[in-house]
Amino acid sequence: MRILNIQRMSTEDGPGLRTTLFVKGCPLACAWCHNPESIDPKSHVEWIGIRCIGCQSCIDICPKHGMTLDEEGMHIIPECPACGTCVKECPTEALEMKGLERSVDELFNELIKDRSFWGEEGGITLSGGEILMQYREAAELLAKFKEAGVHTAVDTSGFCSREALDAVIPYADIFLYDLKLFDSEEHKKFTGQNNKIIIDNFEYLLTKAKRIWVRTPIIPGATDTDENIRGIASIVRDRVEKWELCAFNNLCKDKYERLHLVWDYEKSSLMTKDRMNELVDIAKAAGAENVVWSGMSKREE
Ligand code: SF4
Ligand code: SF4
Repeated sequence: MRILNIQRMSTEDGPGLRTTLFVKGCPLACAWCHNPESIDPKSHVEWIGIRCIGCQSCIDICPKHGMTLDEEGMHIIPECPACGTCVKECPTEALEMKGLERSVDELFNELIKDRSFWGEEGGITLSGGEILMQYREAAELLAKFKEAGVHTAVDTSGFCSREALDAVIPYADIFLYDLKLFDSEEHKKFTGQNNKIIIDNFEYLLTKAKRIWVRTPIIPGATDTDENIRGIASIVRDRVEKWELCAFNNLCKDKYERLHLVWDYEKSSLMTKDRMNELVDIAKAAGAENVVWSGMSKREE
């Protein structure tokens, strides 16, 4: 599997305390994406400025002469083949390879070390990018955890083939399923794809999955409208265990800076508590049950 990173002690990726495996590659490109480094399935080198002492060893050794360091930070040419020479050379671990290939066995052996933290409710979560782009390996990994008696969660955008869903359903104790935008054109505008496959897969999963939590990122100017919440409520209704409205946060600003990318939401404000409560009420009035909101909110004056 091509992985991005492993996050330990996670409380936001399913029930209880969990270890979450994030992988590289996503077929969507959400305008607000909080993991921009995960979209491209290819490996890449990431520079962590706070650790860099400016020694330039990486620049001198790069066989492609593809690195420059200036006051804006490290620039790496887009053609970088991720050979890893610079990563090995850096004395302060300021360069990290993202998108390393790991076998299912290696990942199982690494993740299972956290078993004592998981307790009754927790376990492992496979997340993205989009985990179901690597569904064969994901199913194999989930099966190993089920055999070991570990609780398993799959966090998906739902933009995947039916074959991919079928491969993981038998080994997933819970699905965390994103429903972002009800209007298909809006969905295409903000994520690059319409929502037909996602809604069809959701209906299918309702008939097959053991448990489902739906998640909707509440993004200012995109998903935070009354109409959108009413629309999603008409699909969700009382058919899932939980529907979580996840308030926008700007914690990923640094990631965009590190990647020298412009983030359209850099200046967007956090949602207010009142508005999040209002959206929950709108969802409930439209017939949805088990609706909650989570995340950061703007400090009220
Ligand atoms: S990964 Fe290789 S080619 Fe890319 S910047 Fe580092 S040394 Fe250069
Ligand atoms: S080798 Fe590491 S510390 Fe030195 S300039 Fe490169 S990234 Fe910075």
